Amino acid sequence: MTPAPSALRVAIIGAGPAGIYAGNILHRLVREAGHTVAIDLFDSLPAPYGLIRYGVAPDHPRIKGIVKSLQEMLDADTIRFIGNVTYGTDLTLADVREQYHAVIFATGAMRDAPLLIDGIDLPGSFGAADFVSWYDGHPDVPREWPLDATDVAVIGNGNVALDVARILAKHADDLLTTDIPASVYAGLAGSPVTDVHVFGRRGPSQVKFTPIELRELADIPDVDLVVYAEDFTPDSFSEQLVASNNQVKIMTRTLNGWLTRAPQGASRRLHLHFLHAPLEVYGDSRVEGIRFERTEHTGDGGVRATGQIVDYAVQAVYRAVGYRGSALADVPFDTVRGVIPNDGGRVLDAAGEPVAGVYATGWIKRGPVGLIGHTKGDALETVTRLVADLPELMAGAGIGTAVTGTAVIGTAESILALLDGRGVAYTTWAGWRALDAHEVSLGTQGTPARERVKVISRAEQVAISRAEVLIPQ
Ligand SMILES: Cc1cc2nc3c(=O)[nH]c(=O)nc-3n(C[C@H](O)[C@H](O)[C@H](O)COP(=O)(O)OP(=O)(O)OC[C@H]3O[C@@H](n4cnc5c(N)ncnc54)[C@H](O)[C@@H]3O)c2cc1C
Repeated sequence: MTPAPSALRVAIIGAGPAGIYAGNILHRLVREAGHTVAIDLFDSLPAPYGLIRYGVAPDHPRIKGIVKSLQEMLDADTIRFIGNVTYGTDLTLADVREQYHAVIFATGAMRDAPLLIDGIDLPGSFGAADFVSWYDGHPDVPREWPLDATDVAVIGNGNVALDVARILAKHADDLLTTDIPASVYAGLAGSPVTDVHVFGRRGPSQVKFTPIELRELADIPDVDLVVYAEDFTPDSFSEQLVASNNQVKIMTRTLNGWLTRAPQGASRRLHLHFLHAPLEVYGDSRVEGIRFERTEHTGDGGVRATGQIVDYAVQAVYRAVGYRGSALADVPFDTVRGVIPNDGGRVLDAAGEPVAGVYATGWIKRGPVGLIGHTKGDALETVTRLVADLPELMAGAGIGTAVTGTAVIGTAESILALLDGRGVAYTTWAGWRALDAHEVSLGTQGTPARERVKVISRAEQVAISRAEVLIPQ
């Protein structure tokens, strides 16, 4: 039986790109199905945009176009942003079940995946995610970062490794026009770094970089790029890859081109090493070096150890070997993959059965790979499943325990009353627009002018945003 047109209520947990795209697509598809929908988009941070605000490197302003389009989606007033609300503490699954027909988890991945080698926990050894959170001004991480190494190793051959290496190698003044916080500028300006080494286990044609991110390394002022001929050994598999994949072809050509580039006498160097498998980080009481075993191609896309050991004297090690999702209270979790188990976005329980009314999208659904654009296709897949489930959801077979027929006890006001009752200082979209305007205006006040100066402190972000909530309408 087709349910009568009525308002569906959906909570989305996580206001990163995946959550925002999901909200936008949901609104469109539900309307096309003849219903109306009320969407509440929660985030534990007072501000929206997830890793776009707290992951993307400050010197990557080309992401601005995406932010503009996400902002337009939230400006349209079809999705209600409710920030500074953490699912699991401020809001539970029981609350969500009482208030909504369905919930979509879009909580992403914020932690470093582990790298299980000896010495990885020595002082001076860091996870990329923590460093990224520091330079992007995440409110929940310490403001100081120890930048006292002249020689640094970055383990990993993906874009995050390149971001970390680039920010470490760049002169702080070349980041002045970006939105880096003053404390980050001061930290980077005091860095004595001269050499940043990036290491990958596989060969130059098997990197996980993207061409733009790779090519921009050549344009960092006063930083010489160094690659090593011995890392470019012939390999039939790589040759086939180059012939069949345009992206690989571009990057291999770029890397080969750098082999013949003469050093420019820069004061800093960024080295790219391939065919190096990390064995251990060593040092008495802190990092003094890192040991690798050289690898060689197996001819089928893999590499094997050669037994040749090489040491590099470095005083800091950053591991950029991937991000990892975190388990959420009362939600099934795959501890091996670090994702919510799902079938095309429908969350599955331990028996592999769909949990009625519970969905997942973005990095927490798929794992921490892919660019922002990929979260859009992801959201479409998840929302399509949700819309296919509409008859059951609206008939009361969804997640609401207090549902009778199509009536859900939750309303736009009741969820806010619940949060108010718990003393949760939630923020709103109007509040974010006020904070956004404040940050942009701070940026215009300095010399040189900057695109914005981020407010770091959570309390200050909440205060500026809440001033908007508290203004009588
Ligand atoms: C260092 C780094 C640099 C990157 N650079 C680029 C780039 O230049 N270009 C590009 O296209 N892609 C880039 N990416 C990839 C891009 O960031 C991801 O594809 C995208 O952010 C994933 O979106 P998401 O919404 O799934 O997760 P996220 O962006 O992580 O958003 C998840 C949101 O959920 C919230 N949340 C988590 N737990 C809870 C909870 N319990 N309660 C409430 N809210 C919660 C978080 O606060 C966050 O806002 C980068 C990624 C990283 C890690």
